Amino acid sequence: MLLDLSRIKAIAKEKERENNAFAKFLRQFPSSTLDPLVALLNDEIEPNIDCKTCANCCKNFYAAAFEHELPALAQASGVSVENFKETFVKPYKEAYYFNTKPCPMLRENLCSAYEVRPLCCQTFPNLKGEHFKYRFQSVMEKYAICPIAFNVVEALKVRLSFQEKFAHSSVN
Ligand code: SF4
Ligand code: SF4
Repeated sequence: MLLDLSRIKAIAKEKERENNAFAKFLRQFPSSTLDPLVALLNDEIEPNIDCKTCANCCKNFYAAAFEHELPALAQASGVSVENFKETFVKPYKEAYYFNTKPCPMLRENLCSAYEVRPLCCQTFPNLKGEHFKYRFQSVMEKYAICPIAFNVVEALKVRLSFQEKFAHSSVN
């Protein structure tokens, strides 16, 4: 299992062509086969990764919060909801997005609002769920920065014997 964040970022760049081919390869599998396999791999891999020593998502994504999540976040930050909206987030469509990278809630690699962090953060990288193959593009945005996403995708390639097929098609 690869946990080195800079190696993951570098490999993600090297594997761009391979991953585009993998996105197409996945389409042949029904979601009823693929989704439980992804969930299984996620459950095998996630417990071996310590998010507290990583926090790379908090440094590289603008996390989203819904209106109803703001009061608890404001309280955790010791400010009013109005003040929180003005200082820490920007509205976009139906949500509010933290306005800095790293996230303004991050303190020394830990979330200062952990108990009340938004659902978006609780579920990141959100690999489980329906229709993985149709969400693959959004998974790949996480693949380069999240060791869970990276290792699940790489394990999925092995389980589906993709590497052999990709190597063969690259030669021909
Ligand atoms: S709210 Fe907490 S968990 Fe979510 S991005 Fe910010 S620091 Fe990370
Ligand atoms: S969810 Fe992924 S990127 Fe975020 S802290 Fe955990 S391993 Fe790191």
